[in-house]
Amino acid sequence: MLLKHISNKLNTLSEMKTLPGYWYGKPYYSLDAYCKTTYHEKLYKIALDAGLTCPNRDGRIGSRGCIFCSAGGSGDFAVALSTAAATDISKQLQQGIQLFHEKKTGEHFIAYFQAYTNTYGPVSYLEQIYAQALNTPEVAGISIATRPDCLDAPVLSLLSKLQHQYPDKFIWVELGLQSIHEKTARYIRRGYPLPVFEDALSALHDLSIPVIVHLILGLPNENREMILQSVSYLNSLPVWGVKLQLLHVLKGTDLAVEYSKHTFDVFTIEEYIPLLAECICSLRPDIVIHRLTGDGPRDLLIAPLWSLQKRNVLNQFHKYMKETNSYQGKKIICQNHR
Ligand code: SF4
Repeated sequence: MLLKHISNKLNTLSEMKTLPGYWYGKPYYSLDAYCKTTYHEKLYKIALDAGLTCPNRDGRIGSRGCIFCSAGGSGDFAVALSTAAATDISKQLQQGIQLFHEKKTGEHFIAYFQAYTNTYGPVSYLEQIYAQALNTPEVAGISIATRPDCLDAPVLSLLSKLQHQYPDKFIWVELGLQSIHEKTARYIRRGYPLPVFEDALSALHDLSIPVIVHLILGLPNENREMILQSVSYLNSLPVWGVKLQLLHVLKGTDLAVEYSKHTFDVFTIEEYIPLLAECICSLRPDIVIHRLTGDGPRDLLIAPLWSLQKRNVLNQFHKYMKETNSYQGKKIICQNHR
């Protein structure tokens, strides 16, 4: 059934690409394109820190975290409040909204529960923080970053309940998979095997909760083929969105220690752009791309420093896609039409 659905999508892609405004002029299905099509406006993300921790840090699974994870639990862009109310979600949202309004942009927002593992806590507390966001009029919906091994029955039941309570708002879940390769998973200390991800994805799909999967491009000991295998693997699953994250080496991480010993290299921009283009061409065209490179926090980033020039990276990527007549799903479509 799923394969038929995918095949139908692929068959119509060539026609759709010729429609004016499809993907809003970009050669891939961006989150912006999805929001403009669905909500008729751009939605802006406000990154939040709900004061949670992670089982890979508090000792339940591990105490040193994933090898690349910063002290901020991969939530270094969360709104910073310096008061006792630092984890007050409503206050963080109001502060984030205020910042956008000062720039005279943004009417509606995605409340992004980013820092640490955002389903790892008492269900009553989770309900409280999600509801605070969903009750905020400017918030169009919430996106919850978590681990697939932190989605037990009570949490799933809460998400299902909130979906029914807030039918006009969306609830997305983001799963940090990073790679499908078990050797890599052990190296980065991810702390769960691939079947755990598949079970979580399936459970969320059964609840009609859209899932965004995070992959890291450039992990140590992964070559081009391995990266493309991770991308292609997503095509066979009910994945709604993807975040492609260039590997960043951040200060204070164990990855930084490895990097200082020269045990691996990071991508140059000349290596990254063609690889990223190949990933996009290998990805099912209905999967929404939420991220193409990611931002490394300027004060924490050790390498690759070229990634700080985000506009330049995106410009070079778009130029490359144009010059090579590349677009999302191209590789699959070409295979299907052989
Ligand atoms: S699961 Fe997320 S928060 Fe936890 S250690 Fe890994 S990257 Fe950091």
